[in-house]
Amino acid sequence: MAHVYINEASLLKDFNKLTQENQDKAGRYIKNLLRVQRAETKLCGQVSHVEWKEHELARSATEDKIRCSFCGKPQSVAERIIAGSDVYICDDCVKLCAEIVEEEEKKEQAALAKS
Ligand SMILES: [Zn+2]
Repeated sequence: MAHVYINEASLLKDFNKLTQENQDKAGRYIKNLLRVQRAETKLCGQVSHVEWKEHELARSATEDKIRCSFCGKPQSVAERIIAGSDVYICDDCVKLCAEIVEEEEKKEQAALAKS
């Protein structure tokens, strides 16, 4: 069972009792330990960056699932998207449809006036 030092002074007291060779060994051991610690910190940062990227990708994938059923424009691009049962329509397509309907009505009225 390894001894756990409760303070720096008691550790240093024992450290000074060691032979020069063992002090060097301990020094190298501590240096390697610090290197491992630094690598671990770096790795943790990279892991959280990857996790954030995954989250962002999942988010944009769900966002783009909603598209205008008429022109295919994704929700992220369209100003407004109106949902129906299993279908979506963007504001541009609504305007276009309204124009077509209006045009058709004008033609019908003109034909009625002639007859
Ligand atoms: Zn559209």
